[in-house]
Amino acid sequence: MEKSFDAMVSSFKEFVKRIKQYEEALAVIYWDLRTGAPKKGVPGRAEVIGMLSTEVFRMSTSTEMEEYLGYFTKEENSKLLDNIMKALVKEYKKDFDRFKKIPEEVYKEYVILTSEAESVWEEAKNNNDFDLFSPYLEKIVSFNLKFIEYWGCKSNKYDTLLDYYEPGMTVEKLDKIFKELREKIVPLVSKIKVSEHQPDDSIFKKDFCIKKQDDFSRYILEKMGYDFEAGRLDESEHPFTIGMTPGDVRITTHYYKNLFSSALFSAVHEGGHALYEQNISADLNGTALCTGTSMGVHESQSRLWENMIGRSYEFWKCYYPELLKVFPEQFEGVSLDEFYRAINKVESSLIRVEADELTYNLHIMIRYEIEKALINQEIKVADLPRIWNERMEEYLGVVPTNDAEGVLQDVHWSGGSFGYFPSYTLGNIYSAQLLNAIKRDIPDLSERLSNGDMLVIKEWLADKVHKHGKLLTPAEILKSVTGEEIEPKHLVQYLEDKYTQIYKL
Ligand SMILES: [Zn+2]
Repeated sequence: MEKSFDAMVSSFKEFVKRIKQYEEALAVIYWDLRTGAPKKGVPGRAEVIGMLSTEVFRMSTSTEMEEYLGYFTKEENSKLLDNIMKALVKEYKKDFDRFKKIPEEVYKEYVILTSEAESVWEEAKNNNDFDLFSPYLEKIVSFNLKFIEYWGCKSNKYDTLLDYYEPGMTVEKLDKIFKELREKIVPLVSKIKVSEHQPDDSIFKKDFCIKKQDDFSRYILEKMGYDFEAGRLDESEHPFTIGMTPGDVRITTHYYKNLFSSALFSAVHEGGHALYEQNISADLNGTALCTGTSMGVHESQSRLWENMIGRSYEFWKCYYPELLKVFPEQFEGVSLDEFYRAINKVESSLIRVEADELTYNLHIMIRYEIEKALINQEIKVADLPRIWNERMEEYLGVVPTNDAEGVLQDVHWSGGSFGYFPSYTLGNIYSAQLLNAIKRDIPDLSERLSNGDMLVIKEWLADKVHKHGKLLTPAEILKSVTGEEIEPKHLVQYLEDKYTQIYKL
């Protein structure tokens, strides 16, 4: 006898919950590997990762999944689904199609290629040897071109890749958005370069006790509303956030004894990601909807906290006196104004991950243009170092002296993550739009922030953005909160206002 509709819904939910539980187990293992797992345990752990990932892949592409998706997409059943089930079916169908359309042996070959490519990339970067990496990159690009064929090519080949990270985003939209931003940012950076009022960031290059840095990071995270009973802060080489369930969202930072600003701002950045994951509605727990809606919206949360709040004058008006209690000698004679200007220093530099909030976007645009041209076969992998350096000169006015600090600096391409980079700048754009909406809804925001009240922001974000998880698309969230589509002019305005004041332009 056939199962009833309700029985099908509950068995589907059980089935996807199991997938989610495997993913949670994987996440704990990844966290452990990056935060100090014993070296001798690593090979064994890698095997467990392989086994669990295969199981997730197998279940997501199984005939059982196919039957569920077939059943729920039938017209008579589909109209009975509630919102959560509708979104869930859409989400799992997306994954099913994505993987099922690629022949299994092609996919396996690609997984092996990218895992090899990552270690080759590392070696190439260490030895400043692009030629070592380029044959791998060529293969990865041609695999991606094949995948685009399997998945179905949109009006621009690159759109298919973009859509995976930022649903609904296209080359047509991004070209326009990035052009508008670039036309404002490049001249602003040039004006800043020649300003006589350069902040002095040497105040951060002293001796800062790591234990005290850690205590201060925890203090600020608590003020932001990060729930330490549903998370923890550890140290890793590269800071990251990993969310198992809203009840367990862990973050890391990296401490430098002789550099104050890095660890704190990394902790605030990851704290922004973590607040998102901690505040997703309980209804979505145990499903693929229990995460951020897109990479761009996730980045909007971390960047809003790190740059727009954590580097604001109001924030430090309250917390600088607290910081002075922790590091009285290091900041002796440094005024609040000097400190504020130093944490907002703008400098055209070669390395994306070290870039400030203004020039960061130019680093992203270079990568976007290269990816778009590669995927549309307008340039060749061999041309990358030259194109990279030309663009750096044009946008940032600095040119790498070698490929290690140029085209080889990022890990992303070795893993085949094409279409991911734009998320960072989309995050900056969204965060400026959200900040304006927060100011509209909380008219005394500036005063509250000066008094150290950040919970009001956390609660606003939880209600307007976080709780929806992946139930709403990026465009739906933006529209419901700001009444607008994606709109770069708010970021331009924010940057112009802030840096005109700091550099007295
Ligand atoms: Zn981030």
